Amino acid sequence: MIRVKRNSYGGADLLVCSRPPGRLIADDKCPMFRRESGQRGTRLGKAGSIALLFVAAVCPLSGEIRPLTILHINDIHAHLSPLDNGDGGFAALATVIRREREGCAACILLNAGDLAQGTPVSTIFQGLPVFELSNLLGIDAATIGNHDFDYGWMQTRKFISTVNYPMVSANMVGKDGQPFAKPYVILRVNGLRVAVIGEMTETLPTLTFPRALGEWHAVSVVETARRYAAELRPQVDLVVLLAHIDGREETAVLEQVPRVAVLVSGHIHSGIAEPRVVDGRIMVRVKSYTGELGRLDLEVDTEKKAPVSWNWKIVPIAAGTPPAPDVATKVAYWEDQVKERVDRPLAIARRAFNTRDEIKALMERAIRDQTGANFAFINRGGVRDVLPAGQLLERNIWNIMPFDNRVLVGTFKGRDLPPVVLGGKPVEPDREYTLAVSDFTAANQGTAENFGTTGLQFPNGVGLLRDILIDWFRKQKVIE
Ligand SMILES: [Zn+2]
Repeated sequence: MIRVKRNSYGGADLLVCSRPPGRLIADDKCPMFRRESGQRGTRLGKAGSIALLFVAAVCPLSGEIRPLTILHINDIHAHLSPLDNGDGGFAALATVIRREREGCAACILLNAGDLAQGTPVSTIFQGLPVFELSNLLGIDAATIGNHDFDYGWMQTRKFISTVNYPMVSANMVGKDGQPFAKPYVILRVNGLRVAVIGEMTETLPTLTFPRALGEWHAVSVVETARRYAAELRPQVDLVVLLAHIDGREETAVLEQVPRVAVLVSGHIHSGIAEPRVVDGRIMVRVKSYTGELGRLDLEVDTEKKAPVSWNWKIVPIAAGTPPAPDVATKVAYWEDQVKERVDRPLAIARRAFNTRDEIKALMERAIRDQTGANFAFINRGGVRDVLPAGQLLERNIWNIMPFDNRVLVGTFKGRDLPPVVLGGKPVEPDREYTLAVSDFTAANQGTAENFGTTGLQFPNGVGLLRDILIDWFRKQKVIE
């Protein structure tokens, strides 16, 4: 299934070749552009590439229409192997990327962040193998996601030095405003200069532990995008923002930063059905966990520095896609390193648990049972996977809880318990109750996703959340 959305701005009268002074070049000397305008969505074959080279020699760069294809992924979250339903995985993703790139001289591949964190290989080896493997995907530029900081910013630096492509982030800065990574990169593709600016969500402090970030923090997404886009626009043909940001920030960029022509986004794991477009500026994002590759075919007006037409499709990384052998070998190597530890049978699930809320309820029940606490609370963002029906492995729990979060317990008067943890259960205001949470919730209790209030103390650590879950599932034997 391939969903296609296309649109165009202006039409054929915008397809022009500029004319060197004193010499007239008829429009039919630019056959490439004409043909492309008539068959939007078709791919350039080899002949097309040759024609393009010829045209490039005849037509100077200013005022041209040139094709550019942006392939994009986001929120891969270390899913090296296919999902339980057979979709995705690095080896199938590589096959699809290579297929889409074949004969495409105008193709670049961008990754919008959160490559790390989500599977045992990432947790146990602190993300590094995932970045090593990403070198086989042909990524041209990536930005840094909040979870790429989960193992501490020193490890993020290692990721940046491990990969064979630039990782850019313009608004991650230190105490003195110094950038954490390269703010942007200018890619040269098909005669176009494409600026790719990286950005991180401003909500970063509520998404991670302060110790992981050190002095590094995210400053204004909109202001930073404005500043770099203004600086880069005169030097390039197109400004692209590659951002790991939330929905509110996506809207703000689209509406408030007109110099950003294309926004390739990540962080929200659900893809979108069709691009968001504001005044001809285009935003795209695909599904997480290697489920999809996005393909945005553009015709870029180098004078307007904007696309005059676009065509977006989602290419699913469907079960049955032949794995790329070189990638499959490396994935197998890394999975072998963790197999003995995580592929141990754990329990039988009588049915699939397909929603985050079902898993959240299971996790809270497990924590209550294992700790004896009156109440337990897990933030929805702390649920990272669902459960299939049938034989469960410890790996399933690693995927649900890849973070090394710890469980903390505090004792509170009924009146001080946040309403969200009660689930409708009545409490006596003066009686004392115990509440178990993850250290992430304790550290970020003020956010809407957690309690929306602060000041609760959780003095008792009772162990690693993942271990507590594994012990509970093993005891249950059967999950109804
Ligand atoms: Zn994220």
